[in-house]
Amino acid sequence: MAIRLGNSCINCENLTQEGACKIHMVAVSNNYTCDHFSMKATLKDDRNCVTCTRFHESDCANPQAAAPGMLCTHWAPQNATA
Ligand code: SF4
Ligand code: SF4
Repeated sequence: MAIRLGNSCINCENLTQEGACKIHMVAVSNNYTCDHFSMKATLKDDRNCVTCTRFHESDCANPQAAAPGMLCTHWAPQNATA
């Protein structure tokens, strides 16, 4: 199974502004994730190369095809940390 850079608490709609998880009721960080992960709707609706942290970077999976409006399975949000 692939490791997905975007599946982190920081991109989960269950994270509160105070940094707590609405499901588990504990403080979490962007290094965590769980099976209840649910991508924030704002990110879900805006996934393309322009919003990808790999756009114009050496780890882009498809540098010849990457362009605004394009998307591949290696997309990762710009606020992701590795
Ligand atoms: S612990 Fe799970 S449900 Fe809670 S914010 Fe993180 S990924 Fe989302
Ligand atoms: S081609 Fe894939 S990895 Fe490259 S910028 Fe677009 S979505 Fe990201």
